[in-house]
Parts: sequence; structure tokens; C-alpha cells
Amino acid sequence: MNFLEERILKDGVVKSCNVLKVDSFLNHQVDIALMEEIGREFKRRFEDTPVTKVMTIEASGIGIAVFVAKELGVPLVFAKKSKSINIDGDVFVAEVESFTHRNKNQVVVSKSFLHAGEHVLIIDDFMANGCAMQGLISIVESAGATVEGCGIVIEKGFQIGGRVIRNMGYRVESLAIIDAMDADTGSITFRKQA
Ligand code: 5GP
Repeated sequence: MNFLEERILKDGVVKSCNVLKVDSFLNHQVDIALMEEIGREFKRRFEDTPVTKVMTIEASGIGIAVFVAKELGVPLVFAKKSKSINIDGDVFVAEVESFTHRNKNQVVVSKSFLHAGEHVLIIDDFMANGCAMQGLISIVESAGATVEGCGIVIEKGFQIGGRVIRNMGYRVESLAIIDAMDADTGSITFRKQA
């Protein structure tokens, strides 16, 4: 069992059959030592790729992506959720359905901060149905940049996102993959990874 799986078992709370709360250490209160370890682990997994930029989506991806970008020594850009319906031509846009809020947001990245020829590592805290990741991938591709990979802290392997993104041909590295969880017993089963 790796450092993250141990922490999820210790402090994660299964809220329902498909929602895990990790807000005591990952996305509300933040354990900085754990973040540093996550940053080092993503560096280890992606240092064979020519990453020039880390990208994530606000809000909960940002804290994690900061540590990954620091380890890789590259800038971080995060996609912003935009309420404006009159989005101008200075941004790349994608529509993303929020898993937690069940609404749709347009997310935008300024064209000033993402360019053709860049090599992008996309980071997020969770993968569920893969909507956030598909939105970020489409933004990177509309810029003419290359997706070097997707780094996910917690993939819920019983939801479709991981399979969809891998089937699209992208490299997905998840630090923990949950194959099953039970809100009644609180039990969490991880997929064995090499
Ligand atoms: P997806 O777009 O893959 O359906 O969902 C990913 C996004 O939803 C992540 O950015 C994350 O913020 C949120 N999310 C998905 N599943 C969970 C979960 O079980 N717990 C928490 N805290 N957030 C989740």
C-alpha cells in the first residue's frame, strides 16, 4: 500500500457509494508534507516526458498542481470557471459538467498562457466520469499544445473517466485507484498497481 492509500484509509470518509471526502488533508485543510510527497511522486512518474507546463482546474486541483509544478520546475496555469456568456476570443473555452455540483461551467484559459508547441501535464485531485479531464484536454489541444499525460491523485476506478481517457490514447497516472467503496461500512478497496 502506498503513502496515499494509507492516508485515504486513515482519514478519508466514504460519503456515499460514489463520493469520497478527503477534505481533512487534500482539498479543504491541506497536509503540506503529503502535498510535497505527491509532487515528488508525479515528478518521478513524468520526468521522462518533456513537460513545459502543468495545468489544472480551479479550485481543488490548484493546491496539488502547485507542488507538481515546483518539482518539475515549470509554470502552472489553471482553468478558471467563468459565468460570462460573452466570452471573448482571448481565451480557450471548454464546457465541463461538475461532478460534485451537478452543474455545467464554462472553463477558460487565457491564450496568453498556453501556446502551440507546449507540452502539458494535466493534474487533478479526482477522476470520476472524466468530464473535467476531457475539458482540459480539449483546451490544450485547441491551443495546438501536446498533452503529455494526466496525473490524478485519486481515481475512482468504478466510474468511467479513467477508461474513457485511456481509450482516447492519453497516459493516465493515478496515485490511488479505488475499485470499490461502501458508505455503510466505510470500506475502500484499492486496485493493485505495479
Ligand atoms: P469528473 O469530471 O471526472 O466527473 O469529476 C472530477 C472532478 O469532480 C474533480 O475535479 C473533483 O473536484 C470532483 N470529484 C469527483 N469525485 C469526487 C469525490 O469522490 N470526492 C471529491 N471530494 N471530489 C470529487
